[in-house]
Amino acid sequence: MAALTFLGATNGVTGSMYLLEAGRWKILVECGLVQGRYEEEQQNKEPFPFDPKSIDAVVLSHGHLDHSGRLPKLVNDGFSGPIYMTAPTCELLEIMLKDSAFLNMRDAEWENKRRRRSGKEEIEPLYTIEDAERTLQQCNGQAYATPVEILEGVQLRFVDAGHILGSAIVEMTINEEGSARTLVFSGDLGNSCAALLRDPVNLEKADVVLLESTYGDRNHRPMDETLDEFRDIIREASESGGNILIPAFAVGRTQEIIFHLGEFYQQGILNHQAVYLDSPMAIATTEVYHRYQDVFNYEDRSALRQAKSGSLHTYLPVLRYSRTTEESMAINRITDGAIIIAGSGMCTGGRIRHHLKHNLWRRNAHVIIVGYQAIGTPGRALVDGAKRLRVAGEEVAVNASIHTLGGFSAHAGQQQLLDWISVFHKPKPHTYLIHGENHAKKVLQTQLHKMGIQVEIPKYDTTITL
Ligand SMILES: [Zn+2]
Ligand SMILES: [Zn+2]
Repeated sequence: MAALTFLGATNGVTGSMYLLEAGRWKILVECGLVQGRYEEEQQNKEPFPFDPKSIDAVVLSHGHLDHSGRLPKLVNDGFSGPIYMTAPTCELLEIMLKDSAFLNMRDAEWENKRRRRSGKEEIEPLYTIEDAERTLQQCNGQAYATPVEILEGVQLRFVDAGHILGSAIVEMTINEEGSARTLVFSGDLGNSCAALLRDPVNLEKADVVLLESTYGDRNHRPMDETLDEFRDIIREASESGGNILIPAFAVGRTQEIIFHLGEFYQQGILNHQAVYLDSPMAIATTEVYHRYQDVFNYEDRSALRQAKSGSLHTYLPVLRYSRTTEESMAINRITDGAIIIAGSGMCTGGRIRHHLKHNLWRRNAHVIIVGYQAIGTPGRALVDGAKRLRVAGEEVAVNASIHTLGGFSAHAGQQQLLDWISVFHKPKPHTYLIHGENHAKKVLQTQLHKMGIQVEIPKYDTTITL
């Protein structure tokens, strides 16, 4: 009998990791970073609860670090087998793991400066750029919808999850002693209202389903309302004359925002002279999105299809890439008419801090918050109405208008999750809820029970048989 052990994302949404043991094979599904408070993130440094050398293959649903970010540590600790994912995920993973390694090395260096002064022992970074590069060598990009036998008796198939470029729902069929069992792992399921990507694919057959439950307790605001609000802010800012700052997450959200700005441009609403994408990582990601346009959701987006090459650039001709520090600094001299998209998404680091310093004190400036802001971050302080903000080494008065747009989620809302699971044929798969806060999982469990589905909320280190 094949067995599955829950080794991550059982408590909150980060650190996804599941161990599948089938016959003589050990397959790790996801190898994500734990993200959150400092103490929680220390878990990333602990040894894996299995021998990395004993793993035969890794399967990855998508590139986000909470699903992929511990892979270089796994490789460093002795895993030498193949890592299966979709082809676009391979390319995004290169950007994400190198950035993650860079940040780990930088943080360790800062910490070590302090430690050297106080005579303490130095620490090692979680992993280095070289570890990330070795990991990328082991990556194996697959096409959507094509089954592949990754190990004898174990068949893998990725179908589109519509969450970020390359994201997949993972289907694994295990043939043992003449019988086949199918495990479906939802990965992160996309929001079908999002503009660029396709809707998550519906599957009909599974024995066991692992279902993400990030928004298990609520539905999103309708996208139309969010877009109306976005349009109004752009109009208001055109009239008042100041710059618009959008702190953005580099992968996924940024490309959606650029697409919507392109739509406004095509509709004649956007009069701004330039939209600056001021983040090397977001630029690199946007270029990968360009290369994989064939996976975009063209059915609903005829305007984008009709744009000459169908690229974001022809769609939004005022888009400017700002790659170097000098280019980024030059934007600081612009006092009105610019839209500046820069990371980090919660304003905890990155180039957005300089733009905040140069714009927050201006009464005609606007800041648009398009993603979740964790407690304690500068982004959260702005959302909560702070009158002053310490940013880039200076205390700045907040005179700009702060807007929050809540509808741009990359995750399925509650009803979308229920709709997705309702398509499975009877007997309904045994369902396990993961990747969600406790409250979200409890509420979703109640809803699924009403549909007659057997649902459990596994604890860390629970093992089930398939
Ligand atoms: Zn994700
Ligand atoms: Zn996730």
